[in-house]
Amino acid sequence: MFRRSIYKTPTQLRAMVEPGLITAAALDAIRPLIRAGVKTLELDAAANRAILERGAESNFQLVRGYHHTICVSVNEQVVHGIPSDRVLQPGDIVSVDCGAQFQGWNGDSAITVVIPDPSRADLVAQREELSRVTEGSMWAGIATMATASHLGDVGAAIQDYIEAQGSSAVTGEPYGILREYVGHGIGRKMHEAPSVFNYRTPDPGAEVRPGLVVAIEPMVTAGGEMTFVEDDDWTVSTIDGTDGSHWEHSVAVHDGGIWVLTAPDGGAEGLAPFGVTPVPVA
Ligand code: MG
Ligand code: MG
Repeated sequence: MFRRSIYKTPTQLRAMVEPGLITAAALDAIRPLIRAGVKTLELDAAANRAILERGAESNFQLVRGYHHTICVSVNEQVVHGIPSDRVLQPGDIVSVDCGAQFQGWNGDSAITVVIPDPSRADLVAQREELSRVTEGSMWAGIATMATASHLGDVGAAIQDYIEAQGSSAVTGEPYGILREYVGHGIGRKMHEAPSVFNYRTPDPGAEVRPGLVVAIEPMVTAGGEMTFVEDDDWTVSTIDGTDGSHWEHSVAVHDGGIWVLTAPDGGAEGLAPFGVTPVPVA
């Protein structure tokens, strides 16, 4: 059977720049709307407008059985939450995942935002720390792409980063890393081979070399790693009820280096603490 190579040509990598930027623009449109009193369906509508305005389409709507532009996961929900009439509350920790397809190529990215709540400063601080650890682990994984020989190095870097951040203030235990949900290759389809684990595995994984494009997306909890799927058949929530955070970027490896396709600066700011300078896809 013919199998398409997981490695893209330089022309294909160039085609992935625009859908990455459109995905970033959609999340930029949502970010200021993540505040108390807003329904999660309003975030979905804003993302859809931003994508359509740019001549692209929502790739989440192309997933069988899914009818929205974003996933929005609040508090103990970690990923795959469905937009609804739910009204966001002060102090909520909100992860939003979004993607765009443009001229047949895909972008995929996620952010976490904590809504201010002056009356619960401790809770907000704990949730911000969870988001910071998760985002930092994503950048640690992305930075490793610049030097990794195989994708297993990326998972190890993500796990090492999280473990180095100490324990969750909620449980006194290390932060939890979801095991059953992982990052992935991205290209003509939003989800392609290979898998990108967020933890150490015995398998070295796919070779990291020019042409590889992957979505790196750690999913981290303030407690245990065990989750369940809610009755809506989508939403993934923690069994112990602790909070979740999800950060994601789509990253290209090319002849000149690495470039974060879903960040307008190519990841320069996030990678700086790791001493990695992204290089635009030429
Ligand atoms: Mg995603
Ligand atoms: Mg993804």
